[in-house]
Amino acid sequence: MAADNLYAIALGSNRRSRHGSPEATVRAAAEALGVERLSPIHRTEAMGPAGRGFANAAAILDCDLDPPSLLDRLKQTERAFGRRAGRRWGPRVLDLDIILWSGGAWGGGGLVVPHPEFRRRAFVLKPLAEIAADWRDPLTGATVRQLLHRLRRPRPVDPTGPRP
Ligand code: ADP
Ligand code: MG
Repeated sequence: MAADNLYAIALGSNRRSRHGSPEATVRAAAEALGVERLSPIHRTEAMGPAGRGFANAAAILDCDLDPPSLLDRLKQTERAFGRRAGRRWGPRVLDLDIILWSGGAWGGGGLVVPHPEFRRRAFVLKPLAEIAADWRDPLTGATVRQLLHRLRRPRPVDPTGPRP
């Protein structure tokens, strides 16, 4: 494994944490992970009756961890942020997903990279396009910018969809 791995990470939060608002939580998580770049933080209004608004962002992380080791670290960070004073494990306030990896594709052990849903998620593609628009999805060959445009204006042929 090469010493340096570059990752695109998606960060999301819809609850306050000891760090403050969902935005402050996302910012604090990015700091805790030591990311190279953090996108602007986007606010998405709640869809369901019980939900609150989400704060979503994307980040670039440069580290020497392979994908499964990074996933472990992301899960540790989620747990650290979700823990509430006076309780055992409180509700998760933070979602950290591996979206893209400089090594291309990874599959196995319950981990899939690129993240299987990211091509359909505006809340991932929008912030990611602000910091890594030219990064190519190894599966479709499309850049993040192109994936975002496709999402806004769906085409008749979707290369990630079922083939005839
Ligand atoms: P979601 O992110 O879909 O809201 P979770 O954060 O609970 O839901 O993730 C469910 C599981 O997906 C995680 O426990 C993790 O093991 C697995 N997983 C598979 N691929 C990835 C990936 N690329 N990034 C993050 N988690 C992943
Ligand atoms: Mg997740």
